[in-house]
Formats: sequence, structure tokens, C-alpha cells
Amino acid sequence: MTPIKINIPQLRSERINQIKTIFLDHMGANLTENWVGGRTEGLKRLSNIKPERYEKSRNYLNGEVTYLSPYLRHGCISLAEAITFAQEKSTRGNDKLLFEFAWRDYWRQIWYLSGDRIHSEMEAPKVELKRNPLPPLVTEANTKLPCIDHFVRTLQETGYLHNHARMWLSSYLIHWLGIDWKIAASWMHDLLLDGDQASNTLSWQWVASTFGSKPYFFNQENLSKYTDNQLCKSCQAVCPFKKSYEELDASLFRPTTAPARVTSSQRSQVNFEHQGNEPVVLFTDEMLSPTHLLYQHDQKKIFVFDPRHYKNWSLNRIQFIADCLAEMPEVEVWIGDTLAVLNALNCSHVVTQSTPNMTLKHLLSKCHVTYIDEPAIYSKVTQEKLHARGLMRFSKYWSYVGEEILMR
Ligand SMILES: Cc1cc2nc3c(=O)[nH]c(=O)nc-3n(C[C@H](O)[C@H](O)[C@H](O)COP(=O)(O)OP(=O)(O)OC[C@H]3O[C@@H](n4cnc5c(N)ncnc54)[C@H](O)[C@@H]3O)c2cc1C
Repeated sequence: MTPIKINIPQLRSERINQIKTIFLDHMGANLTENWVGGRTEGLKRLSNIKPERYEKSRNYLNGEVTYLSPYLRHGCISLAEAITFAQEKSTRGNDKLLFEFAWRDYWRQIWYLSGDRIHSEMEAPKVELKRNPLPPLVTEANTKLPCIDHFVRTLQETGYLHNHARMWLSSYLIHWLGIDWKIAASWMHDLLLDGDQASNTLSWQWVASTFGSKPYFFNQENLSKYTDNQLCKSCQAVCPFKKSYEELDASLFRPTTAPARVTSSQRSQVNFEHQGNEPVVLFTDEMLSPTHLLYQHDQKKIFVFDPRHYKNWSLNRIQFIADCLAEMPEVEVWIGDTLAVLNALNCSHVVTQSTPNMTLKHLLSKCHVTYIDEPAIYSKVTQEKLHARGLMRFSKYWSYVGEEILMR
């Protein structure tokens, strides 16, 4: 496919329609008014955070969570900024939000350390895992369990699910329906506005027990409590969750000696021999902010909707990215193969931000690339310590970084 350059309309309704017209293969709902992409909206949300209220209510579906994840995921605001802001707003004893920001960084550091290995089982499963495919009754929100169907519909219609709902849904799919965690994780990833290889895959592994000491499961009492009984009160289904934890433990889990399942990533060879020497700043989907350091550079700036990365992403995610790009008028937006775009622009020297994304790194492996560091959230010394010691548990990670992250 010959790459094409597109203009992102400034008018939002026009932009939403344009993306729907161009990205015909991308399924799903339009981006809703509640999810306007870009730094302006991300900052608005950041300025509204209430660490104290977050601390008390975050586990409840209607709790005061931040709804920041798509903005952090796409770099509209950096995690460093969010942490600094939360440090200033948090009082001692209300550190939960900082702790959760750290979880995002923790998964990312594992991704940096392990690369594509995060898509294989990090450890042997602690219980027997089945490997069923994802059935239509799930993807069509037709399990006949109102809570589960509600979570699936919410995910499909909005691209967002509360953390607790993600935990319940993933646990149900893995431990009750016996679905292969990897297939289900990939399905959820592609529907999320904040879909992130590390946070998603490693959270699914944590639920499955291939990156944690036990499987995560829940019962009806837990679900009812944190949904304020909204989903259970009129439920007529035979509830598979209405048991004690002991009963569920006995009925769901079998011991296993199965080893960790390791899958290798297949990557096709990169053929790129262009000799052009025009430098270009490549904005990836992790750096969509007009205040990004590289946005100040004089060189040509590009973003490429490369099907290699975005083929399976839902329509509203592409629209979210377009919202972000509308705030960055100096960035040329292309659709096509990244290397073909570089070729067309006579470029082989790429400047971009450091990333653990191996697909992108592999793609750029035949170019001359300068990677600049991501905004740091702790000192270089701490960073080196982290990488030298290994990070198999969050508690270990926290023992290195906690003090700096809680600093105020
Ligand atoms: C099965 C499963 C899949 C997930 N997939 C993703 C994903 O693809 N992308 C993603 O960003 N998060 C993922 N998470 C983590 C978490 O659910 C979301 O980050 C959070 O729900 C986003 O909503 P929020 O911004 O309102 O969160 P808040 O509760 O307001 O938290 C503030 C921020 O802290 C970070 N955070 C909070 N909880 C977690 C967590 N458990 N792990 C990592 N970071 C966290 C996020 O950056 C979030 O924006 C997943 C969790 C589970 C259980």
C-alpha cells in the first residue's frame, strides 16, 4: 500500500467522521463525548484528582477514580507529571493513587527488562489453566450473567472498564470459562482506549497465576459490595459466584505441574536500505503531546498509522489518537507502512522516544535511530538498581522506588 498523508480536521465532529470513513476495517463504536483525546482534556482530569477520595473509594465501580489511563498511555500527560501533581495534592496516609501510578511503571519496567517475553507465561501456573478459545457468547455479551454482559458491553461501547470490573471479567473468563488468558487478553487490549501491552498482558497473567503466587478469583459478595448491589439486585441468573471463597477454591482449581508456556515472537525480516539522510522526529502512540520535548524540534515531525501496530484496534481508539493529533498541528499524519513513509520522505535518521515496544524497535532496526529518554520518575541510580536486581514482585520494586515516589 502506498502511504498517504491525511489532514486531521480541527472540528471534532468532522474528525470523528473522517476517521470512521478512512479506517473502514476498524470495528466498534464511535468515541463518546466522555472521552475526548489530547493533552487539554488529560490536564483537566489531572487537575480534578482527589487523592483522599480516591483512597477511600477506588475499589467501587462508582468510586472517584481518575479516568487518566488513556491519557497516560498515549503520553498526553506523562506519568512523571501525574506523580508530581499527585505528590503535591496527597497528604500523608493518602498514598494509594501514587501507589497505583507506580503499578503502571512497574509493569512498564518489566516490559523494558523482559521485552517480548511478557507475552509468554512469566512463571509456571499455580493452578491448572485451560486453553479454550473465546466463545461468541462472551464477545456478543450473551453469557446470561447480567454483570458479565454489562462489563463486556461497557468495554465495547466506551473502551473503558473500571479496574475492579477488569479483574472480575478476566477472572471469570480464565477460571470459570477456562478461556486461554492470552487470547482473552488480546481481545480486551484491542477494545481498550488505554490498551497497553505491559499493563494488560501482565495483569491478565496476575489473574491467571502465571505472574503471581495464586490465581485471582472473587465471589458474589465481593461483586455486590463494590457495585453497590446495582448489578445483583434484579439479577435472575443462577449465580456461579454465590459461594464462599473456600467452596469456589475447591470447585475452580486443580493442582498442576505444568511448566510456563513460552511462545516465540515471529518477526519478518526488515528490508530497508534507504540512504536518505533527512532527519525526522517520529511521534509514536506513546508521545502524543504538544509539550513533548521533541515537539520543540525544528525537524520534520511525523505520526504513522501503521497497520502493523493498529490493525486490530477499535475505531474509538483511532479516533482518540486523532483527537490527540489535532492538538499537534506540526505533526504530519500518515497512513501506511512506516518504512515506506520514511522512504517517501527521504529519511533514514529517526529521532523518537525510548520504548520497550519490540515491534517498533525491530521495525526501525535498519535506520539510524536516536532514542531520547522518557521523562524520569526516579533517579538514574534507582533505575539502575531496579534493573540490576530483577523485579519479579511489586513489593521488591516498591522497596527501591517507594520513597522517591511518595516524596513530597
Ligand atoms: C485484566 C486487566 C487488564 C488491564 N489492562 C490495562 C491496560 O491495557 N492499560 C492500562 O493502562 N491499564 C490496564 N489495567 C490496569 C487498570 O485497570 C487501569 O489502569 C485502570 O483501571 C485505568 O482507569 P483509571 O485511569 O480510572 O484508574 P485509576 O484507578 O484512577 O488509577 C490511576 C492510574 O494508575 C494506574 N493504575 C491504576 N491501577 C493500575 C493497575 N492495576 N495496573 C497498572 N496501572 C494501574 C493507571 O495508569 C491509572 O490511570 C488492567 C487491569 C486488569 C485487571
